[in-house]
Amino acid sequence: MKIGIIGGGLMGMALAFRISELNASVKVFERDSQLGGLSTHYNYGNFTWDKFYHVIVPTDGSLINLITDIGLGDSLNWSRSFTGYYVNKSFYSLNSPKEFLLFPLLNIWDKIRLVFTIFYGGRISNWKKLEGVTVKDWLIQMGGKKNFNKFWEPLLLAKLGENYKRVSAVFIWTYIRRLFKAREHPVEKDFMGYVSGGYKTVFDRLEKELIKNNSSILKNTSVKSIRPLDGGGIEVKYDDKVEHFDKVIFTAPLNVLENVTSPEFCEIVKNDQAIEYLGVVCLALVTKKPLTPFYVLNMGDVNSPFTGVIGISSLVDPEQTAGEYITFFPKYIPADHTYWSMPDETIEEIFMKGVRDLYPELNDGDLVAAHINRAYKVQPLQVLNYSTIIPEIITKHPDFFVLNTSQFVSDSVNNNRVITHVNSFMEQFAVELKTKAKTNTV
Ligand SMILES: Cc1cc2nc3c(=O)[nH]c(=O)nc-3n(C[C@H](O)[C@H](O)[C@H](O)COP(=O)(O)OP(=O)(O)OC[C@H]3O[C@@H](n4cnc5c(N)ncnc54)[C@H](O)[C@@H]3O)c2cc1C
Repeated sequence: MKIGIIGGGLMGMALAFRISELNASVKVFERDSQLGGLSTHYNYGNFTWDKFYHVIVPTDGSLINLITDIGLGDSLNWSRSFTGYYVNKSFYSLNSPKEFLLFPLLNIWDKIRLVFTIFYGGRISNWKKLEGVTVKDWLIQMGGKKNFNKFWEPLLLAKLGENYKRVSAVFIWTYIRRLFKAREHPVEKDFMGYVSGGYKTVFDRLEKELIKNNSSILKNTSVKSIRPLDGGGIEVKYDDKVEHFDKVIFTAPLNVLENVTSPEFCEIVKNDQAIEYLGVVCLALVTKKPLTPFYVLNMGDVNSPFTGVIGISSLVDPEQTAGEYITFFPKYIPADHTYWSMPDETIEEIFMKGVRDLYPELNDGDLVAAHINRAYKVQPLQVLNYSTIIPEIITKHPDFFVLNTSQFVSDSVNNNRVITHVNSFMEQFAVELKTKAKTNTV
């Protein structure tokens, strides 16, 4: 049985690994020169690490199982993570009940209501109910106006800009559930994880396992068209070549799917309301000294050029990054934002001014390098009733399948979700492969 997989991001590579374990021969097509997609790596000069920041939380069970299954369980490291809040030119650590009680922006009654919002939000299971209410109305209803104005609104503005006014309460619900539920995890409270060497280690190992299982990966190979064959099976065109597969699974983004298939073969039923995506522009700053003790510094300062500060080196052992320290400064922006047309140097200048305002003690001598990285379509804007506007993908051939992050309705885009998506697909697909293998041997 010959299976083609389009896209060598985590979705494609995890699928390829699971299928290759079932004695099928898999070929992965990846457009870029390296595997990983949004989870790929980047050369920072003296070390290689993820291009964008990635963290594993203790409740990422499906992802942790995959990492263990490919033999990297011992390379998983857990470190205590710390959260901060920056507002009115001051940093506040919010990592213990005492620090929370001392947080000066809110009075005790507001704090009780804030804790209630987080506690209650983390326990809601029917997200559908939250789709029809704006995040603003829901947060005011739960925690009151003062909590909203002083705590939540600056965070929402920093994260989504004015777009937050059109976003439903599902947005904050997914955020609360993933991050705050992880903190309640009984085993590793407040801990976050990473694999030694970052996601490069994971993709290198997946590649090795695939080759061991008689499968292959074609990098630098952009698939140009996919179409059904008259006698059964699927044809894939790439470079100047044509190859036939028994089954093909497509994992790249929706706009690529539209370009490489015809509607008679794979229909994308769209709603009149177009999906708006947020992309990310991110400064990765390499320094000789640690910049922040916090894994996440939430920005309550609406004028900041970035959405938050992600102190990867507060978790990752400096040995992993050649004794240097790396801090990410992301800004989530819509498709029409002026940053997209600016050269990296201009964005670096704007972001570095923000960095110097935040950390005036930072000396030029402590700076090693600054890198600007961009990703265009990362997270859909979860507007009101988002589930009713996501396009429906209808594959019209029994041997062609689509699995991508556009199918996530009530979740943020994260790697544990990617693996649960792969696992639920495999439950059915594995049965199909086994049945076909039996039929072929009879
Ligand atoms: C700034 C940022 C921070 C993040 N932080 C976290 C985090 O802390 N924790 C977490 O769990 N997740 C995080 N994520 C999310 C994580 O990166 C994604 O969940 C994951 O990478 C999605 O994988 P995917 O395979 O579905 O898609 P992608 O990574 O987009 O993979 C799709 C692949 O298809 C390839 N492709 C496209 N067109 C073609 C073609 N025509 N032919 C062949 N190949 C093609 C692309 O090159 C790409 O490699 C973060 C993402 C970003 C951007």
